[in-house]
Amino acid sequence: MPQVQKVMEDGSFILGEHVQNFEKNVSRYLGQESLGCASGSDALLLSLMAAGIGAGDEVITTPFTFFATAGAVSRVGAKPVFADIERKTFNMGCDKLEPAINKNTKAILVVHLFGQPVEMECILSVAKKYNLTVIEDACQAFGSEYRGRKVGAIGDFGCFSFFPTKNLGCYGDGGLITCKSPENLELVKKLRVHGSKNKYFHELVGINSRLDSIQAAILDVKLAYIDEWNIKRKEIAKKYSEALSAIVEIPTETAGTSHIFHQYAILTNKRDALLSHLQKKGVAAGIYYPLPLHLQDCFKYLGYQKGAFSVAEQVSNEILSLPIYPEMTDEQVMLVIDAVKSFYE
Ligand SMILES: *Cc1c(COP(=O)(O)O)cnc(C)c1O
Repeated sequence: MPQVQKVMEDGSFILGEHVQNFEKNVSRYLGQESLGCASGSDALLLSLMAAGIGAGDEVITTPFTFFATAGAVSRVGAKPVFADIERKTFNMGCDKLEPAINKNTKAILVVHLFGQPVEMECILSVAKKYNLTVIEDACQAFGSEYRGRKVGAIGDFGCFSFFPTKNLGCYGDGGLITCKSPENLELVKKLRVHGSKNKYFHELVGINSRLDSIQAAILDVKLAYIDEWNIKRKEIAKKYSEALSAIVEIPTETAGTSHIFHQYAILTNKRDALLSHLQKKGVAAGIYYPLPLHLQDCFKYLGYQKGAFSVAEQVSNEILSLPIYPEMTDEQVMLVIDAVKSFYE
């Protein structure tokens, strides 16, 4: 890639002009000011730090997500508080939110899981009522839209990951954080470089979390194709849904949203048998996620019991993701469909 060659020639490998160019372009795409950082996990960490969340504080989030979402809450010393998901969207139910709020609650951390946008209007109104920060984990939803707005650009902070398997991926680790307020943007800009604005003078204790220039150059090239790739994902999802709706529970796209299908996840009570059938046929299906976060060993100290979040638990036992990526050919899509159908025949 000539763009990578250019970074080599310029010799500026961390932050710098290439990162600034990407930040400018991605901010325009998302409709919110944003800053590169080292990973999606760090974007979550930086947003919690910028929101001033720490020991004694509680953050409400979903038990059904990749570990990093709740891991970040623990890492700042705060307590993750879970609220159950909806079977239809796999996202945290807004009606489960208010009962989980108490005087220690500081933020709501929503996840647009698999690319399905969360019902943000409801989340924002609860947040307003209780004066809570809203952080969006949009690591699986680059380009998804909620009522015409890009997800990750709606709350106080938005977090993105460019891990290679994400729908916008780079050639290593990378992440992005959006900030609604200019004050938070300035704060995150400092926090990602050890809390300093002027080198070697530190106003805050921050972390080291930057986006590499090479990754930014690659992302800037790929950004131009993301809509096209997301459309391909949606087309494949449509084919799956048309072919499979009669035999398994298919994923939905909520009215007023655009779901980019980072994952295409079905539900079936014969999940494990279907998975091994598909594996025998050479279809790379996968389980995201086999164990909800409230039942993970590392969160035992939170005191949740089995049965605490019955929807998340049931979904973990029934969910199966079928292969989906923009380069998939019609033949490959048909092969997956036939493999699923053959299991039920
Ligand atoms: C991938 C992912 C993350 C973490 O991103 P990294 O770049 O791997 O640190 C966080 N949350 C969700 C929902 C993810 O899918």
